[in-house]
Amino acid sequence: MKAAVWYGEKNIQIEEIPLPVISDDEVLVKTKAVSICGSDLHAYKGVSKRRKPPLVMGHEFSGEIIRTGKNVRNLKTGDRVVIEPIISCGVCRSCNKGKTNACGNRKLIGLHTTGAFAEYVNVRGEKCHKIPQTITFEEASLVEPLAVAVHAVNITPIRKNDTIVIIGSGTIGLMTCQVAKYSGAGKIFAVDTIDYKLEQIKKLGAYQVINANKEDPVKKVLADGGVDVVFEAVGLQKTVQQALTMVTAAGEVTIIGMLEAKMELDMLDVTVKEIEIRGSYGYTTKDFKQALNLIASKKVNVKPLITHVLPLDDIAKGFDILAQEKERVIKVVLKP
Ligand SMILES: [Zn+2]
Ligand SMILES: [Zn+2]
Repeated sequence: MKAAVWYGEKNIQIEEIPLPVISDDEVLVKTKAVSICGSDLHAYKGVSKRRKPPLVMGHEFSGEIIRTGKNVRNLKTGDRVVIEPIISCGVCRSCNKGKTNACGNRKLIGLHTTGAFAEYVNVRGEKCHKIPQTITFEEASLVEPLAVAVHAVNITPIRKNDTIVIIGSGTIGLMTCQVAKYSGAGKIFAVDTIDYKLEQIKKLGAYQVINANKEDPVKKVLADGGVDVVFEAVGLQKTVQQALTMVTAAGEVTIIGMLEAKMELDMLDVTVKEIEIRGSYGYTTKDFKQALNLIASKKVNVKPLITHVLPLDDIAKGFDILAQEKERVIKVVLKP
C-alpha cells in the first residue's frame, strides 16, 4: 500500500509499504480523510523530538472498514468510522481515576505505531466510532482535535455568562471557542498574531479579537474588567504569563498549549489571586464521543477550519503550506 514515510526534518517520502496484518481484535480501515495535526507539523519542522523517524505519522482520521478480526462484533465491512487514536492501559492509577488521557502507558497511533498517512491502518475495533451519513469523512477527521477542546472545557469550571479569553486562535482555539460558547460562556475574547485566524474566530462566536502584535492583550482585557477563565492554547512563557495576569482573582487558567517546557512565571500572582491552573491533555472516550455528537448535531461547525484538501501524494506540499503560513491555512486534510 501507499504511505507517507517521514525521515526527519522536512523529509517525507511516498513509498510502498506492506499492508498491515490485523489481529483478532482489530479491523482494517481504508483511510478516507486524515488531517495534519500541529504535533505532526512540529515533528516535520524538527522542533519536537517526541516522534522518532522513520515513521508514518497521522492520527486524526476517518475511514471505511475493509476487514474485521474474528473477535470484533459491533463492526462490519463498509461501516464508516472515525478512530480514537489514544490507546491507554486501563490498569494504571490515572486510568483508574478515569483520566485515561493521562495514562503513563498510553500509545498514540502515528507516534508509537504506524499511522494514517497511508491507504490502510489496523486499529482495535473498540477504538472505532461509527459516523452518521450526515457528516463527511473530512469533517470526521476533525473529531480528534475537537475532542481536545471538549476535554479542556469539560475539566474547567465555567459558570453561565463567565467571560473567557482564548489565547491562540489556531485549530484548538477555534474549537474551544465554539465548545465554550455552547457550554454557556459569556463574552469570549480571542488572541492571536495572525489576522485571518482572528477573522475566523470572530465569525465563529468570539466577542472581541486582539492581535497581540498590534496591541497588548493584557491591557485590553483588564480594561474590560478582566476575565473569569483563560484557555491558553499556545504554550509559551509569555502567553502563560499573560493568562495569569489577565485572569481575575479566583479565576481559572487551563493550559492546552505545550511549546515551551520550562517557564519563569509570577507565582505570587497565582497565590495572592488564588488562581486555579490546570493542564489539559488529550481526551477520554467520553470526550471523543461528545465531540462526534457536537459535529453530527451541527452544534459545532468544523467546515470553515478545513482550508485545504489534498491527495496523499501532495503531503509534503501540505506540510509546507502549514509551515509557511503564507496562505490562509488552518487545517490541511489529506485524501489517501
Ligand atoms: Zn492531533
Ligand atoms: Zn493507564
